[in-house]
Amino acid sequence: MAATTPGPARFKDPHRSVYPFRDRVFVACPRCAGRAEVRTDLATYRTTFHCPDCHHHLASDNTRMDLRLEVYCNACAHRISVHIPNVKTKRSVIRVKCPACGAAESYRPSYEQYPAFSRAAAGTDPFLGLDLWYRAAFGEDLLWAYNYDHLHYLEGYVGAALRERNDPRYMTLGEKLPRFMQLAKNRAALLKLIARLKRK
Ligand SMILES: [Zn+2]
Ligand SMILES: [Zn+2]
Repeated sequence: MAATTPGPARFKDPHRSVYPFRDRVFVACPRCAGRAEVRTDLATYRTTFHCPDCHHHLASDNTRMDLRLEVYCNACAHRISVHIPNVKTKRSVIRVKCPACGAAESYRPSYEQYPAFSRAAAGTDPFLGLDLWYRAAFGEDLLWAYNYDHLHYLEGYVGAALRERNDPRYMTLGEKLPRFMQLAKNRAALLKLIARLKRK
């Protein structure tokens, strides 16, 4: 590995993607507008929201469940395929009528569970869609961060006169940042805005 010159204007991308910041997202409480947190277990994608001021509480498991059944009819051996997307509850057996011979039988379906998120609008949290606490208009664009660490990270990125990447195998957060954050002419104004948000 090549030696690097340390210096205050040098920003070393620590190979972080935006994803590690998602486990604790600061949002504006939809009930009292105070600062609250959306916490998500990134292993199970279970999300909880709790407001320390008004005690508003929300939870979501962020998962979708599909029912699948692939069997051969007990009466005529015709192949029966059932796929029901987005079912709410698991049932151990379902009754299915064979499309070939009409015999109705009970079968054990399988269930497939996978993470499913609402398509979050810019400036909202990716799990519950609540407005982020750290968000501010920058001209036509929107500056936002999931939490204080994320904001601090952005400050480091924007403030660096010289950027380097340690390893091209990693997709770094820097590469995914919107263009307005990468323009040198915006640097001073962005840093001011970030400093203002940090005091929020
Ligand atoms: Zn509240
Ligand atoms: Zn049949």
